[in-house]
Amino acid sequence: MKYVSTRGMSPAVTSAEAIKKGLAPDGGLYFPDEIPVFSDADFDALKDMSYPERAAKIMHAFLSDSFSYDELLCECREAYREESFGPHPAPLSEVGPSLRVLELWHGPTAAFKDMALQIMPRLFVRSVRKTGDGRKALILVATSGDTGKAALEGYKDIDGINIMVFYPENGVSRVQKLQMATQTGNNVFVRSVKGNFDDAQNGVKKIFSDPDTAEKLGNKGIFLSSANSINWGRLVPQVCYYVSAYCDLVKEGDIAFGEKVNVTVPTGNFGDILAGYIAKKMGTPIGKLVCASNSNNVLTDFFETGTYDRKRQFYTTVSPSMDILISSNLERLLFMESDSGTVRGLMKELSENGKYTVPDALLAKINEDFCGIYCGEDDTHAEIRHIETKYGYLIDTHTAVAMYSAEKYGGEEKMIVVSTASPYKFAPAVYYALTGEKTENELDSIDLLEKVSRVEITSPLKGIADRKIVFDPSDSIPPSEMTADVLRYCGL
Ligand SMILES: *Cc1c(COP(=O)(O)O)cnc(C)c1O
Repeated sequence: MKYVSTRGMSPAVTSAEAIKKGLAPDGGLYFPDEIPVFSDADFDALKDMSYPERAAKIMHAFLSDSFSYDELLCECREAYREESFGPHPAPLSEVGPSLRVLELWHGPTAAFKDMALQIMPRLFVRSVRKTGDGRKALILVATSGDTGKAALEGYKDIDGINIMVFYPENGVSRVQKLQMATQTGNNVFVRSVKGNFDDAQNGVKKIFSDPDTAEKLGNKGIFLSSANSINWGRLVPQVCYYVSAYCDLVKEGDIAFGEKVNVTVPTGNFGDILAGYIAKKMGTPIGKLVCASNSNNVLTDFFETGTYDRKRQFYTTVSPSMDILISSNLERLLFMESDSGTVRGLMKELSENGKYTVPDALLAKINEDFCGIYCGEDDTHAEIRHIETKYGYLIDTHTAVAMYSAEKYGGEEKMIVVSTASPYKFAPAVYYALTGEKTENELDSIDLLEKVSRVEITSPLKGIADRKIVFDPSDSIPPSEMTADVLRYCGL
């Protein structure tokens, strides 16, 4: 299997090269030239495996050109160990008669990005070595909150790699700031930057594009890389939990093998739901994939009209991890359903005019598998209350968007709703949804939420205020000093 660019203007590469490079040189995203299909016997074998074994088997089907099964199994066992994720990294909860919730937030940062970011650094380091590169990687991340912490937890103490995370002084929540300020690990660095997220992000982009910095780092045997969600190494681990969830349903006798289930995914960058579609293409009996959006409903409009138009008002919502107007991974879906020439044309339109329209035939093809539904702010709050009252099940704001969309979609089949964050990760909004009361202090809302819901606080968020500060949040720098900060960290 080879990896090709969605824009078709770069040479095909191995999986290790795709993971090391991230973005293809022509600006496209890497995608396998064929999707492996599992037989009934393969699914039957997966059913009786542990999660790390399932993940290794599924990832091996995509990465066997560069990785052995044993290597992947070794890394999966480390990444998804019980101390990090509890007994099952991706368990299903039975919530309603035909409603199942796939809980992806049992990892170290209580959000689903852990599912990919605990394993991706391990794949990355091995990929660098496999491509004969003796250099050390420095990962630079600008974060508006969740990705920074998940990346820090994933990369910490991994040999051959260092990570620096920059967050905007006033652009992250108190809990997010504390999560990053108390980060441990011998290869991590966290810095608060004066300004907003764009300032921090522009600072990082500038460092990436500065040849002078690259040369100085290069002379010390260091190269820069990102933990970006467009990397194939972040996408492929996400395919595993869809296949695994289906196997669990069969194993528990909830469905017979072959029976179709629908899936609803709270969507931002389109990575998570695309992984679900890839699982379907591998042979997992998935029916419809419901793409759930918040008020930033650019994808809902796309599935309805065939026009993707990012020139629209941007809303700051209570489900901030889905506040996105450019869903980068949609490019991979377009590629799967058309060809690199079509993708090239559409992406050119997007960069020049901020929008594109796909041909009718392509839209019809996409709509065989997908459907877009969105949920506004009031409906998000109401849904949290509704699910808690009706089923005694507590959900966060992102999951609420998906739950609302799943109910609106209806359908005869069983529905799996993907739950992407612990309710405690967004405690003020969840507490408000349940009680109608706003809390002054975000940390208080965690304890208050525990009192009203009687659901135990997710362990990574327990006692966060008492942990030792390692990176003082008040020690912030202006964006103009970020380059110097990076060089200083590298001993230059
Ligand atoms: C990142 C994130 C999402 C969106 O996932 P995509 O892969 O970007 O579509 C949804 N919910 C939460 C909590 C997230 O952190």
